[in-house]
Formats: sequence, structure tokens, C-alpha cells
Amino acid sequence: MGSEGSSLKILFFPFMAQGHILPMVDMAKLFAARGVRATILTTPANARLVGPSIKRPNEFEYKYPIELSLIPYPSAAVGLPEGCENVSSLPPTETSCDDFFVGCAMMRDAFDRVVRRLAPDCVVTDMFFPWTCDVASELGVPRLVFHGFSLFALSVYASLGCYKALKTLPADEESFVIPGIPHRITMLRSQVADFGTSKGEMAKVVKQMNEADGKDFGVLVNSFYELEPDYVEHYRNVVGRRAWCIGPLSLCNSDIVEKSGRGNTTSVSQDGCLNWLDGKSAGSVVYVCFGSMSNFSNAQMHEIASGLEASNYSFILVVRKDGDDWLPNGFEERVKEKGLIIRGWAPQILILNHTAVGGFLTHCGWNSSLEGISAGLPLITWPLFAEQFYNERLIVCVLKIGVSVGVTEYRVIPEERLVVGATEIEKAVSSVMGDDEEAEERRERARELGEAAKRAVDEGGSSYSDLDSLIQELMAMK
Ligand code: UDP
Repeated sequence: MGSEGSSLKILFFPFMAQGHILPMVDMAKLFAARGVRATILTTPANARLVGPSIKRPNEFEYKYPIELSLIPYPSAAVGLPEGCENVSSLPPTETSCDDFFVGCAMMRDAFDRVVRRLAPDCVVTDMFFPWTCDVASELGVPRLVFHGFSLFALSVYASLGCYKALKTLPADEESFVIPGIPHRITMLRSQVADFGTSKGEMAKVVKQMNEADGKDFGVLVNSFYELEPDYVEHYRNVVGRRAWCIGPLSLCNSDIVEKSGRGNTTSVSQDGCLNWLDGKSAGSVVYVCFGSMSNFSNAQMHEIASGLEASNYSFILVVRKDGDDWLPNGFEERVKEKGLIIRGWAPQILILNHTAVGGFLTHCGWNSSLEGISAGLPLITWPLFAEQFYNERLIVCVLKIGVSVGVTEYRVIPEERLVVGATEIEKAVSSVMGDDEEAEERRERARELGEAAKRAVDEGGSSYSDLDSLIQELMAMK
């Protein structure tokens, strides 16, 4: 496969959270498939999350296998348990997130040494490592930044002043029109985080992100032109950033082992899961998963279970909770035919692409959203925090392929969230999975976007060509 980038060397450095590692590993795979010498930089505990997904193509596909470069994460120095090197393993203390970011910033010297040793032609680093911008510039290496956001979300952040204080917005619960973007989209003030008021290490990182913004060589985006053309143009021409859309990145996982081994060891056997789905009719199952780290209170889980039970549809429910306190009495026995509960890690892209799945109840993390879109599915949207509320607006208002469960508040801590009742959940599920005219039209739009996603990454497609032009530009700069 491709030799156009064969003399290019690129270093990829993802932030240590699944939602950041997975797309950046996929990105490294895309470059490797074009003959680029790709190295993924991470820490020892995260290496096992990367290995399974690159093993087969490294052996059989790439001219230059993807290399792993490991640097230590200073867990002990920041008071985190030994081996705690990923956001998903942070202890539930008030300071652990800040501590984690302090540890990240302490990796600067190690990053500097790796860049000097490897002498890459370019580094692709996560937005949460803004200090890599300075290191790259000191060493004269172009830095491409990866936020992991949609172009819609990047445009909204730019319009609201990036991560600065949101001084101009109305008070909580009032709705406002997002200023200066191509569509008239309203949101509630309570759905938007005010990074300007965050404190501690997070505030420092946010400040550095603002300072680094615009100083990079450009932005790599996990999206495709046909999905959000107005926002590609807006981001490039109005916000004024160089951006290459090279997604959906997850589509680079062609093989069943790559799909199911992506990110973690799955908590169900691949065969068990596929056999269960094989027994269901086309489009009859709703897949429910809230990403790699989000959790809910027991009360909310109880409502989710009850809402799914009340719906007429089969479901796969992915649960990231110890214990069964949340289960309604007798629930598992009653739903044993129509429900599959996966406790832990699900082979998400394998499930989403099974013909039995007809809808996806998602927290609107961008990876999950785009994976659902790539599978041609309509979505039920349940944003919690980060840029998820913006993604919901894109899905529901711009793309018109989703129905919201109606969350009104940005909340990170599960116990602080208002509980969404079983009735509202059942209503949103039925509206997406149903067969009235509106549902059929939504389904048709989703199906068309799924096809457009696949065309975008095929040879000659928009994402394929964007990646080509980036490789050519980097080659010319050598
Ligand atoms: N994922 C998975 N199995 C799970 C949960 C999540 O494979 O049980 C993957 C999912 O396919 C996606 C990523 O983890 O690629 C989650 O990223 P997203 O941006 O959706 O959410 P985050 O976890 O960052 O909140």
C-alpha cells in the first residue's frame, strides 16, 4: 500500500484517555498505510491499549510498521497510585484530575528528548499537551494539533472565545443563539462550561491551550467534508485555521480483530455478542453506551434500565459500574430475551455495524457520535459534559439524525445531575426506533451519511484527498 509518504517520519502523542488514544492510533494507522514512518508516543500502562489494534496491519500491511515509544508517567510524583496513567483509572478524589494534568506537564522533558532523538518531520499532539507547541517550535518541528472535536464544536468554541470566560452569555437556563456560526442554533447557558472560572491545574492548561491556539502548523480533524461542509469552510475561512479533515478515523479498522480489540479487552466474547445480535431482526436493537469514562448514579441507571424495558425494542446496555444496586427488581430475568448487559468494555464498532442495530443512545462523545454516523445509524442524544452538548446540536439541529432525551445541564459529577426519567428515555428511544414518517426520514438521512462517510475515506474521497495533500505538503517542507 501507498509509498507516497515513505520518507516522512511523524510522531503521534495522544492524551492518555481512551477517547483521545483510540482516534490518534487510528490516525497513525492511516498515515502508516500511506507509507509514513509513524511512531506513537505513550506511557507503559497505555501501551497495551495500543498494541492489539496495530498488531495485524504491522505484520501484514504497512511498509514501515508503526513503532511505539514509551516514556514514564510520574504517577508517584503527583500522588497518584502506581500505574495510574490514564484518565479512566483516576481515583475518585477531588484533586485527581488536576494531579493528572500536573503529571502530564512533567513529561515535557521526556517529550523533548524523544523529539530530538527521533527527529520527526512533524509531531501530532493532543490539545491537552499545549506545551508540546513550545517544544516543537524550539526544535523547529511543525506541530499539528488534534482536539478530537467535530468542526462544528471547534467553530462554536472559536465563536464563544475558545476556552475563555463566557462573559457575553445570559444567565443559567436562558437560551441563547450561538453567535457567528453558519446556522441559527440555540443552546441553554447551563449546557455550556465556563472554562474561565475553572481553577488549579486545569485552568493553567486551559490558559496554555488558548495561548497555543493558532500557533501550530494546523489542525487534524476526525470528520469528513460532506458531514459538515459549512463548518469546514467556516473554520478554515472565518476562524482562519488550517484544518485537514481525514475521518472518520475508525473506518481504518477493517479487520474483525482490529475492530473488537480496539482500546481494551472486551468484557463479552466477540462470538457471544455477534451470535446474540444474529438472533435479532434487522434494525431492532438499540445500542446504549456512554463512552469510556462516563458514569451515572444508581438512581439514573435504574431509570435507564426501566426505560429500555418499557420500550418495544431489544437493547445492548453497556454499564461501567461495580455491583448491581441499580438494577430494578427482577430486571435481568424479565429482559433476558431482549436485553444484553455488557459490564465493562464493549466491542463498540463491531456492534454498531451489525445489521440488527437500528439506533444508538450515546453521550455524544465525538468518537462515538462519528462511529454511529459511520454505521449509518440515527442517534438518541444524552450529552453530559465536555463538547458533547455542541455535538448534540450538530446531530439534532444540523444533521437532523437524532432525538434528544432533553438534558439541560452540563455536569461532570454523576450525583449532581438531574435524573432523566424512564418515560422520557422510552419516548426518545421509541421516536428514533419507530416507523412513522419522521423516523423513516431520519433513518434515511443517517443511512446516506453512513455511505458518504465510507466514500470519504475511500481512494479519491474527500478525506483520502485531504490526507494526500497534507502528506504532499509535509514532504515538500522536508
Ligand atoms: N468504546 C468502546 N467500548 C466501550 C466504550 C467505549 O470501544 O465499551 C470506544 C468508542 O468506540 C469510542 C471511545 O471508546 O471510540 C469513546 O470515545 P468518545 O469520544 O465517544 O467518548 P469519551 O470516552 O471520550 O467520553
